[in-house]
Amino acid sequence: MARNIGSRYTAHQVLGRGSAGTVWLGEGPDGPVAIKLLREDLAADQELVGRFVQERTALLGLSHARVVAVRDLVVDGNDLALVMDLVRGTDLRTRLDRERRLAPEAAVAIAADVAEGLAAAHSAGVVHRDVKPENVLLDMQGPLGPGGAHPALLTDFGIARLVDAPSRTRATKIIGTPDYLAPEIVEGLPPRAAVDIYALATVLYELLAGFTPFGGGHPGAILRRHVTESVAPLPGIPDELWQLLVQCLAKSPASRLRAAELAGRLRELLPDLAGMPPLDVDEPGPDIPDPGQEMYEEQPYAPADAPRRAAVPLVHGSAPDSNRDTHTSMRVPSADELSGGAHGTARVPRSAADRRPGMARHRAEAVRRRRIRLGAAAAVLAAAAGVGGWLAVGGDEADATPPGVERSDADHPAP
Ligand code: ADP
Repeated sequence: MARNIGSRYTAHQVLGRGSAGTVWLGEGPDGPVAIKLLREDLAADQELVGRFVQERTALLGLSHARVVAVRDLVVDGNDLALVMDLVRGTDLRTRLDRERRLAPEAAVAIAADVAEGLAAAHSAGVVHRDVKPENVLLDMQGPLGPGGAHPALLTDFGIARLVDAPSRTRATKIIGTPDYLAPEIVEGLPPRAAVDIYALATVLYELLAGFTPFGGGHPGAILRRHVTESVAPLPGIPDELWQLLVQCLAKSPASRLRAAELAGRLRELLPDLAGMPPLDVDEPGPDIPDPGQEMYEEQPYAPADAPRRAAVPLVHGSAPDSNRDTHTSMRVPSADELSGGAHGTARVPRSAADRRPGMARHRAEAVRRRRIRLGAAAAVLAAAAGVGGWLAVGGDEADATPPGVERSDADHPAP
């Protein structure tokens, strides 16, 4: 059913649904367009509408072959819509879901495209802040590139920042999607261009491996891994490509490459990757605990087929729009919480086995379950001894909410 958006556009058919709204195939004065209609609750937020209008120039100003152009911004009654170039194709998440992992040549070609888009944005002073496969569109009508990859374009520039601005999220909240969040964001530093490089390197790792380097389990656990764990090597990955990934996943933002340099280095690798099959990487499932480590003796808490990434509603009261990742909004954990000092579940990995994705997840769960057991046993003892106050501490310890995380359903706009 067609629907008018402002006086110049008509929306015909839903192309997809995202965290901030629904994307429609539409028609404008210059031909077909994609129209992102923001969710009603967002469009009804006067402050947010004001911000969109204020940032109109920045949103409309980014023009690059690797960036989905925003052509117009429509504020009409209850509608707030972004009119974009129509990309005929699919998003990278859909391709990844279908193929599980890509051949290195195609993965690197896609990452190089995205890096070029980022280079253009960064030189215009714009940080994306939410680089992830959902925000990379593949233009199926464009010419095939290396590895048979369709041209990749980055979309949703600035949307994360506009939707999650300070009035909506307190100053201590984190904006982004847990799997792709750079460690400096977790630590509460202002997000600069290097956060996009970290996120893009995470996407490239995911394209190659079929899973993200630090994903899995509760968002709080994911955040902690970004800060404390090193990335697990991928078997069979060419050394130069691995070095590039490691450099761009560096904990220190200053150590990461700039977008233009990353794009160039990735393109240089392409000839050597031609014809290479997808890497043969084991999915991180439930891990076998280290022998002799009594502390981690228990079986994995999460079932093997449990979803690896957590979807958290963006705004209070909103249901997750799909089973895909979405934004999250969390309290920045304190330094003590990040180091595990207060709760003792974070460990800096020591051995290669420790660094396997999923191992940390298993261990955190094992420790947590053990705590609950210990807490329960201690509670019985304490009750017997009549030490009420201590019992209350035991109850807190057994709380299943990991440190540093506040579920976004507690996320109200700041007063
Ligand atoms: P998210 O909020 O998860 O990033 P979006 O709202 O940007 O997702 O997009 C939802 C879906 O709509 C995408 O997965 C894609 O399939 C489709 N889509 C988004 N932008 C465009 C576009 N410019 N052209 C064609 N399809 C698009």
